[in-house]
Amino acid sequence: MQKNIIDNLAKIFAKLPGMGPRIGKKIVLELASNKEKFLIPLIEYLGELNEKIHNCEICGNIDEGRVCKICLDENRDKNILCVVEEVGDLWAIERSKNYYGKYHVLGGNLSAISGKTIEDLNFSSLISRVKNENFSEIIIATGATIDGQNTAHYIADFLQEFNLKITRLGYGIPIGSEIDYLDEGTISVALKTRLKF
Ligand SMILES: [Zn+2]
Repeated sequence: MQKNIIDNLAKIFAKLPGMGPRIGKKIVLELASNKEKFLIPLIEYLGELNEKIHNCEICGNIDEGRVCKICLDENRDKNILCVVEEVGDLWAIERSKNYYGKYHVLGGNLSAISGKTIEDLNFSSLISRVKNENFSEIIIATGATIDGQNTAHYIADFLQEFNLKITRLGYGIPIGSEIDYLDEGTISVALKTRLKF
């Protein structure tokens, strides 16, 4: 049976974070019933998003333009680099308003389950940044999951030869949690109490 536009679109919404088949269908119904209010502006914004949004060439953040606002910001501390798994983690740390250094987004973690290896991550670009930029501290802020911690250890071992201060997030992060899901207060405390690797 050939699916119609409603089913096709509902399926896409259903796959988004926090959604499901029932909500997917509900959203399509809402869009179709309120063209002026939802559908038309959504078409406009999605078109704009598609045109303007890129992964930053330097850090991997998602923003308008080829280089993100954080990398372009001259007022940020160029001596500290915070390594995160995903863009959502970077945004979570920004929300905490307690970090003013630079970032590097790995694009995932080393995972036996998903089969991700170091070649699948933005790792070589991290090493070349460490070589070419003047960092004095690298904060490895991968998740408190097994894969996140394995990834952190791998990176910390690799960075030993560069003679940098290597730290990880400190108190208050529940075991098994991803940075993205933490509240601002928890992230702030974890940043302030960061520990030497
Ligand atoms: Zn950037």
